[in-house]
Amino acid sequence: MTTQTALGDQDTPTTTTPDTVPAGCYWWSDPDGGLCLMPGCMARVQDPDAECTCDKLATRLAKVERQLRDMQERQRYADTWWHALRAAVDAHPDSAALITDTRRRAGR
Ligand SMILES: [Zn+2]
Repeated sequence: MTTQTALGDQDTPTTTTPDTVPAGCYWWSDPDGGLCLMPGCMARVQDPDAECTCDKLATRLAKVERQLRDMQERQRYADTWWHALRAAVDAHPDSAALITDTRRRAGR
């Protein structure tokens, strides 16, 4: 068996840090020494020698930050809705029955 020269196979997974997270495509050596490409973009799916068109780490970070901001905005909307609904239920004459029914429906 040939000594592995690069990390990233099933038996020796790549240790990831913010600087080494595969941004899509990455190359690794299999235990027999063969060089293998894990394509992450269409360019390299079609031609392993093509220039990689995967997002770089900064682009991926920007995308995740955008998703986080969207999720935070949705959560703020849901919190506002929840507090308004809870206030309306608390002000209702059948408040206790509504809360009991809601807990039953939610299973809590
Ligand atoms: Zn790529």
